[in-house]
Order: sequence, then C-alpha cells, then structure tokens
Amino acid sequence: MIRPILRHGADVLHLPAEPVAQFNQSLGDLIDDMIQTMYAASGVGLAAPQVGVGLRVFVADPSGGRSLDDLIAVVNPNIVRAEGTQREEEGCLSLPGFTDHVARPANVVVSGYDRLGTEIKVQGENLLARVLQHELDHLDGSLFVDRLQGLRRDRIVRRVRKLQRAGRW
Ligand SMILES: [Zn+2]
Repeated sequence: MIRPILRHGADVLHLPAEPVAQFNQSLGDLIDDMIQTMYAASGVGLAAPQVGVGLRVFVADPSGGRSLDDLIAVVNPNIVRAEGTQREEEGCLSLPGFTDHVARPANVVVSGYDRLGTEIKVQGENLLARVLQHELDHLDGSLFVDRLQGLRRDRIVRRVRKLQRAGRW
C-alpha cells in the first residue's frame, strides 16, 4: 500500500524515532509499504517518520528501482564507521522542490537488522553513503536543511513557511 509522504513541518519528522522492539508482521507490512511508497515517488530512500511512523526503520535503493539487488531495508540502524568527505546536491521527498549541497562522509558502514531481526551490515560509498546518512538523519528528527548553515537554511525554511501559509504545502 502506498502511504502519503509527510512534508517538512509535520511533527513526527522533527522528533527522534523509537527503536523497533518487535520483528513482527506489522513491521514487515510497514517495510513493504515503504518500499512501494519510495518507488512510487521515484525516491532513492525513505524513512518511517516520512510516512508518519516514529520507528527506526528505513528503506533505500540508490538505483531507483533499476537493480533489485540494491534494495535494502534496515531496522534500528547505527553508523559504525564514517570516512572521507563528499559534498553533493541533496533533496528529500519531504521537501519537494528544494535541493542544496550537503557535506557528508564519503564512506560509511551501517549496522542494523533486517525485517526478521537478523543482524546486517551495509557498506556504502558516494551516493549510497549519502542516502544511508540522509535516512539515519530522518530517524534522529533531522532533514537535510538542518545540516545547512545560516542563510542557505533560512532561505528554504522561509519558502516552505510561505507555501504552508498559502495552503500549497
Ligand atoms: Zn529525506
């Protein structure tokens, strides 16, 4: 089932998500819905708070659906290693129409669990590293704009507020 994607300003997007305690059917259903929702929105990653669920779960596919081998779902993820730097343009399904350059480590290793509760490790570089960190940020209540400094952040937040006031957000 495709779920609506919440936008910047929705409370759940700005609060830390809770760890998943039970690896059950409803977790599996949530993950399946998130995968469908991500692909339907042509995204490369989606975190549970973006569909209104405050749990530490994300899905990602840096190929955008072109290679099913690239699809991952991680529950209760943690970054266990981060190295190097990259600075690339970033966007977010919860901030449609906005992008900016964000500096992040170029290589990361994320540990966590799959939907059945089996421990997994995901190593990513470049785009995948960026997606992993972007989704981890969502689980900590942060969007990419929160990583921007001063005027660059204010510019986006001001335009979002204007759209909200106009009822177009
Ligand atoms: Zn995002």
